[in-house]
Amino acid sequence: MRSFNQAYIDGAFVQVQGNETLSIINPASEQVIGQVTLANRADTVLAIEAATRAQPTLASTRKAERIDMLLALQQAVLSNSDRLRDAAIEEYGGVLARTQWVSQYAAQCFKNTAHVLDGYEWVRTIGEASVIMEPVGVAALIAPWNSVAGTVCSKLACAIAAGCASVIKPSELSPIQTHVLATALHEAGLPDGVFNILLGRGHDVGDELTTHPGVTKISFTGSTSTGKQIARASIETMKRVSLSLGGKSATLLLDDVDLATAVPLAMSAAFMNNGQACVAGSRLLVPRARLGEVISAVRRHVDTMRIGDPSDPQTAIGPAVSQAHYERVQTYIRRGLEQGATLIAGGTGRPQGLEKGYYVRPTVFADVTDRMDIANEEIFGPVLSIMTYDSLEQAIAMANRSDYGLQAYVFSSDPDMARRVALRLEAGTVLINRHTSELMAPFGGRKQSGLGREFGVFGLEAFLEAKTVVAD
Ligand code: NAD
Repeated sequence: MRSFNQAYIDGAFVQVQGNETLSIINPASEQVIGQVTLANRADTVLAIEAATRAQPTLASTRKAERIDMLLALQQAVLSNSDRLRDAAIEEYGGVLARTQWVSQYAAQCFKNTAHVLDGYEWVRTIGEASVIMEPVGVAALIAPWNSVAGTVCSKLACAIAAGCASVIKPSELSPIQTHVLATALHEAGLPDGVFNILLGRGHDVGDELTTHPGVTKISFTGSTSTGKQIARASIETMKRVSLSLGGKSATLLLDDVDLATAVPLAMSAAFMNNGQACVAGSRLLVPRARLGEVISAVRRHVDTMRIGDPSDPQTAIGPAVSQAHYERVQTYIRRGLEQGATLIAGGTGRPQGLEKGYYVRPTVFADVTDRMDIANEEIFGPVLSIMTYDSLEQAIAMANRSDYGLQAYVFSSDPDMARRVALRLEAGTVLINRHTSELMAPFGGRKQSGLGREFGVFGLEAFLEAKTVVAD
């Protein structure tokens, strides 16, 4: 049984002052595999003070020094990527291919950001003014449980490139991944206090970060409801806030779509990360004339999906992260049935042969209308809603009829038509005939999916303030 009771503050691993403990449960086996003691407000204040001490020195480093730091972090994370992958499999049931990709992506973030920094102009001339980009100050980086290494590393890379010291708070559901990541980042040998890491509850550690006057910037990834709480709490001290939030992304199959290629990609978009992805394409919009074909192709695809042990390379879908989350997804499946959707695959309960583990049956509903909860709410599990349209105009209106606007997918044999549709969709990112994004391009949501953009130069500028100097 492993026990985690340390935070990483001022370049050292220190015992936390908090005393709340949580059991760590492997979601595939339901076994208790460890225990974590959470940090509290006093630990958070120490971490903020360490970052505050490191801030002036970091802010005065030259571009080349920050690039060296980023490349050292890249190497440190890369050399621990197998440990990060294994921790993600064990702790939240992420499947092998996905966790492998995320742990390598976590290292790549530092290299990508070093490249952006290398080409970045800190001073530009606008009319008679010099406009100088300056680090915004100490940043709080708050991450969810469903992509710990990727989220933390992409935020940390931009913070360091900008010259911002940080306090990192991953989810309290991720102590093993946090421990592996913290030891990896420590190996990079950055100056003390440049980044600090602690685990704790939102209502104390998170709240301290969002209200403490020493924190100038919040970069948050998580649910829309938490994002709103953070935005409200942090306005009193006028923090700069970036929010990457939830989604209910639409996948549009246009009427000329080649189903043999589109359906597997659309299903991956829907069920990636066991359905626990902010960008999951959880609404599939289908032309009425092709509904029968789509349903057959979707059923065939679901039949081929292996559900089970996330460390098995053949597994497509692992367990939900926790018992509570399993129950939440079950509630949505029951609601889909009660509200009149037609079940075409999956359903309530565990998949056959899996008595242990928080496994959800990959579930697909047809005849979903926009009055049903499964059409509107983020379920965060392997549940796909098929909705039918009669015209392209109606399809675009249906895709946009959502409180969220994170990502959308368009599949068509006509690239020009797909592009015209993409330009009319209210989403931060639109992917055409693919389900993977461009990681140097801006990522973020419209409407209730967030505020601001991450990644690449947009991610860097989220940690900068412009200063205008005009002289005679
Ligand atoms: P969550 O909002 O419950 O928690 C996210 C983080 O916020 C955790 O570290 C949590 O401890 C912290 N937190 C909670 N209350 C807080 C408060 N009052 N102040 C400060 N911090 C607080 O989200 P989750 O369940 O961990 O993650 C799933 C959600 O994250 C989904 O909605 C998903 O769509 C979203 N998500 C979005 C993206 C994106 O890039 N848009 C990526 C991954 C996940």
